[in-house]
Amino acid sequence: MHAVRPRLVALPSTALFLWIIGLCLLPSGLNSSSVENTNSEGDPNSVPSEKPAPNPVLARLGRVPDWSKLDVYQRTIPEAEFVHLLNHVYARSPEDYEGYIELFPGRARILKQSNHPESGFYDLYFLTDRRKTKEIPRYWTPAWQLDRLKENENQPLKGIHIAIDPGHIGGEWANFEQRFYKIGEDTIPVREGNLTLQVAKILKHDLTALGATISLTRDSTEPVTKQRPKDLKREARAWLLENKGLAPDSLVERTANRMFYVSSEIRTRAEILNEEIQPDLVLCLHFDAAPWINPYKPAFRDKNHLHILINGCYSRGEFKEDDTRFEMLERLLQRTYYYEVALATELAEPMARETRLPPFSYDGQSGKSVNDNPYVWARNLLANRKFMCPVLFFEPYCMNNKEVHSRIQAGEYRGLKEFGGVYKKNIFQEYADSISTGLVKYFRKVR
Ligand SMILES: [Zn+2]
Repeated sequence: MHAVRPRLVALPSTALFLWIIGLCLLPSGLNSSSVENTNSEGDPNSVPSEKPAPNPVLARLGRVPDWSKLDVYQRTIPEAEFVHLLNHVYARSPEDYEGYIELFPGRARILKQSNHPESGFYDLYFLTDRRKTKEIPRYWTPAWQLDRLKENENQPLKGIHIAIDPGHIGGEWANFEQRFYKIGEDTIPVREGNLTLQVAKILKHDLTALGATISLTRDSTEPVTKQRPKDLKREARAWLLENKGLAPDSLVERTANRMFYVSSEIRTRAEILNEEIQPDLVLCLHFDAAPWINPYKPAFRDKNHLHILINGCYSRGEFKEDDTRFEMLERLLQRTYYYEVALATELAEPMARETRLPPFSYDGQSGKSVNDNPYVWARNLLANRKFMCPVLFFEPYCMNNKEVHSRIQAGEYRGLKEFGGVYKKNIFQEYADSISTGLVKYFRKVR
């Protein structure tokens, strides 16, 4: 949980939510040295201002970051590596962070409040003397620091703590979170949150047998958050007022619903994951869906594909959010990318082979390619940003594809069944096997 800057402490926490997005544009001339923080090591002293500070720009239900938490990363990253990670992975393009993160010889200067330069800057100094390398603080152990495996070790995942996050909630909430559809009489409704939980349970069993310690972020089709949409109505109304002006009750209700099943639910899972579970790796399980042609009249789509997401590709709007910018920097400085990209690339081949799915492709706006693997994409999602360790986010199978629907109807069976002339495992086991095969392949190679 991030502490609030002293200047803001007097405000009740609900007021923080009222600040979610200020539409104030950044004034030009952010380079002005008159506002530069001259204290080294990110001293939070700011230049006094006559103007009252506008509400900071934050993600939904986000909190004002405590920039001093970056102090532990001072002089831990060489300049070339910082710039490479920022441009190659985290920023959609260099223009997206212009004015928010500025590069100077020996340091990066980060604007603390994007719509209020008077609140000052955080200076992150680069590592210049490699002989003085410092340990990077992180609760997860990188793959390359794990104990070596014995020859013929039959538990290649021994000593690794993996958290599995079954995406969404499912059950009676599935319709509410818009992860539900039903086509045909006497069919089982498709609920993404139920499907991901079913895969998670198989994966937990199989990865445990391979030696891993497994934690699930949820093990039922009930929300992890204690908040409900009615508790978030005030925040939703305030957020709308700040962003869109006075909103009708129907829109307030829809916004509060989304704040419940996306923002509050994922943020609660992230708190538990970062503070209690503290795994070495998180696997976020999802099923993809092709957009409906008419959402009021669901009909099967031909599309069916696979992709694996790692964190990256922040847009200018996301860099503008103070908490998002801070969390991006934390990920960059923890070097989660190297683990994520190596593992995703290694898993792509067994997953593609096992599922027989072609790659999904982004247009470079919401997702970015980081290497020549067509299945691996960088994208900034709440879960793969807030879980502060390496995260792989899986998106195989389009749930509204006719064959996928038939396979979901077939449930968990032993052996193989024929679909469209091909004999296949049950879809849940196939999904789980494709991941465990890839994990074994990767950890046998690196340990
Ligand atoms: Zn999903």
